[in-house]
Amino acid sequence: MALRFALVIEPAASDDPRPVFSDSFRVIDPSAPALSVGELSTQRGDGIFESIGVVDGHAQETEAHLERLAHSAQICDLPAPNLEQWRQAVAVAAQHSPSEGEGVIKLILSRGVEHGPAPTAWVTATAAADNSIAREKGIRVVTLDRGYGIDTPARAPWLLLGAKTLSYAVNMAAIREAKRRGADDAVFVTSDGFVLEAPTASLILRIGGRFVTPAPNGGILHGTTQLSLFAHLEAQGHETGYEVLPTSALGEADAAWLVSSVRLAAPITAIDDIEVPSDAELTASFNRYLLSPRD
Ligand code: PLP
Repeated sequence: MALRFALVIEPAASDDPRPVFSDSFRVIDPSAPALSVGELSTQRGDGIFESIGVVDGHAQETEAHLERLAHSAQICDLPAPNLEQWRQAVAVAAQHSPSEGEGVIKLILSRGVEHGPAPTAWVTATAAADNSIAREKGIRVVTLDRGYGIDTPARAPWLLLGAKTLSYAVNMAAIREAKRRGADDAVFVTSDGFVLEAPTASLILRIGGRFVTPAPNGGILHGTTQLSLFAHLEAQGHETGYEVLPTSALGEADAAWLVSSVRLAAPITAIDDIEVPSDAELTASFNRYLLSPRD
């Protein structure tokens, strides 16, 4: 999907008191080259990002995404982002997003140019791909070993698990492997048999009438869509929970979804070729909620 709009930000310190940051934004031609070849984001994937869903020009859950950006920056020892500056940049990008239908705003914070003075930051806006087939017909997934144990994130924080880094080559390779195995997407599991997340989405299972998701205990991203959907389910009187889920829990689910900011709720129809029941009415209600304006 071609970029519609892009702006570069001169990142401001987190205690910068300026009320208006628009003088720190430089709108650029989204189809023209913009980054220095010395960029550490492109050389090493050294940076972080967020993808915000946009519906009819409204950026969804901006605050949750900004909080996660700050959390990722902390894990990666990047300077704390000035959230007001990013908030204003998201508002500008939203004005340049499709005013009808769905879009995506991406926030990127890179460590910057090698030996350069400051991080590099930019924001883009595009129209979103059509995800209606995944939402309505569902997706088949395979489980893939992520190659570490449930206790690895705590023992090896330098792996940056739990940060949304730009280093997504492994995530993309997992999706390609899932496709080679005849599925649409993957669910990562630990080598010692616990369920984690998908390469670009969170997993929600319904087991015995409760909605559960793997605990974001450092090894996975805390999904903004899952958080929002759990708040919605709780408001409707459903029970939700974060749990350390063994892979056997996948076989106990009477419905399962992958949820993320742009594809929204995709019902899982099979895990490792074992069919999973799906609840079309509930899935449709999830997506109606996720497409409604959310702050
Ligand atoms: N987990 C991973 C690894 C992701 O990349 C994403 C989103 O891209 C998610 C979970 C879901 O996060 P969100 O709901 O905030 O899009």
